[in-house]
Amino acid sequence: MSKKLTSRAEDYSKWYNELVVKADLAENSAVRGCMVIKPYGYAIWEKMQAELDKMFKETGHQNAYFPLFVPKSLFEAEEKNAEGFAKECAVVTHYRLQNDPDKPGKLRVDPEARLEEELVVRPTSEAIIWNTYRNWIQSYRDLPILVNQWANVVRWEMRTRLFLRTAEFLWQEGHTAHETKEEALAEAEQMNNVYATFVEKFMAIPVVQGLKTESERFAGADETYCIEALMQDGKALQAGTSHFLGQNFAKAFDVKFANKEGKQDYVWATSWGVSTRLMGALIMTHSDDNGLVLPPSLAPNQVVIVPIYKSEEDLDAITEVSNSIMSDLRGKNITVKFDNRTTHRPGAKFAQHELQGVPLRIAIGPKDIANGTVELARRDTLTKEVIALDNINDKVESLLAEIQDTLFAKALKFRDEHITEVDTFEEFKTVLETKTGFISAHWDGTNETEDKIKELTKATIRCIPLDAKEEGGVCVYSGKPSKRRVLFAKAY
Ligand code: AMP
Repeated sequence: MSKKLTSRAEDYSKWYNELVVKADLAENSAVRGCMVIKPYGYAIWEKMQAELDKMFKETGHQNAYFPLFVPKSLFEAEEKNAEGFAKECAVVTHYRLQNDPDKPGKLRVDPEARLEEELVVRPTSEAIIWNTYRNWIQSYRDLPILVNQWANVVRWEMRTRLFLRTAEFLWQEGHTAHETKEEALAEAEQMNNVYATFVEKFMAIPVVQGLKTESERFAGADETYCIEALMQDGKALQAGTSHFLGQNFAKAFDVKFANKEGKQDYVWATSWGVSTRLMGALIMTHSDDNGLVLPPSLAPNQVVIVPIYKSEEDLDAITEVSNSIMSDLRGKNITVKFDNRTTHRPGAKFAQHELQGVPLRIAIGPKDIANGTVELARRDTLTKEVIALDNINDKVESLLAEIQDTLFAKALKFRDEHITEVDTFEEFKTVLETKTGFISAHWDGTNETEDKIKELTKATIRCIPLDAKEEGGVCVYSGKPSKRRVLFAKAY
């Protein structure tokens, strides 16, 4: 096994990068800013997808697929959206390569093969989708449209980090069309709720639900709902967003419908997305200096069994017991793997499963066979106990539930301890330097103050929490009146 990880205290960012690579989740690729998601990392993403997909379908959505390319004329139709994304767009200008006459063995772009209209590689799909919806919608009977797409998108990010911010990323994007403003707003709120439930229940990460300020809003949205999480280094991470798009895209793409009174009206819209950034959130919330810690709900293998043996007879006896344990656990829908590789010693297997965050490890040796016991080790607490084989099914089931709960409780405690209320700008700066985390403070509601605070401290307004209570106060920076506190933080 390669040498230990850098510790979080020593260098959090280095710890993260090393962990992603050593736990075999992902690695950098030959393409700047684009990553290779390795099978173990992809298995976790697939579990997230499966659960989210189920939740989308339970709330009435269907999956569809739209093109990767957006003709420039469509892309520019909704001006704010186009302006917001323009700086990050990859653009296809040609459709053919040819042999380079000056450089044998090399290819060049065929100058004759210039596209009549340039194609933008989608950074988000509102434009292509709303151009399509125009043909799908004539009357109120055609509404609502509740569609989701699983896809990749490209945003030419300058500073990239594996999972957290990549130039190409995987995500889902929901795009819905509605008769009324109220219905669209309710949809945007509902999907933000779905995200919050998923992230808290399955990822064991507590989130704050809120609204973005105007300057942090999605380009082209009238309102952006979000879920914000706090990482172990005290930095915030936007974990998901759900946008109320008003009639902006319907107007840009001329999507009208005949309402119940027979009058023409523009359609109301939402869009919402979570991405492979959630993998980064998962890693940064729970993992420790020994490696990944996975909540059982998302672990590709919830349990791994490692045989410890010298002779073939021992292995045969252990295999028999293991097979019976596996069939029982699988009967309870628990994923379990028997790690009987002969190429690795037990110590190396232990180290690997610890690094990869397998929630429970069962070790079985000849002594266990003789005594009717196994050794059970928890990844989250790193504790071990010897238990009777008879109890194993119930014990494993209850421990997996306990680990899931413990991880959430631990993350919640950390998060709550790192929300600090401040009333002066001095305190604001001190908290940022010493404790970090979320700062709950009054803000006067202007872009200027928000920009100034960002310029002075690098902290941004993460959200206006949905549950923020009305409370008169004065802005921490300008001293102007404010009705409620907002959450500031340095963020990924
Ligand atoms: P948006 O369309 O900007 O609202 O983003 C949708 C989701 O994708 C949000 O959860 C973002 O946090 C996430 N996201 C945005 N940019 C990136 C990126 N470069 N890499 C990974 N995830 C991203």
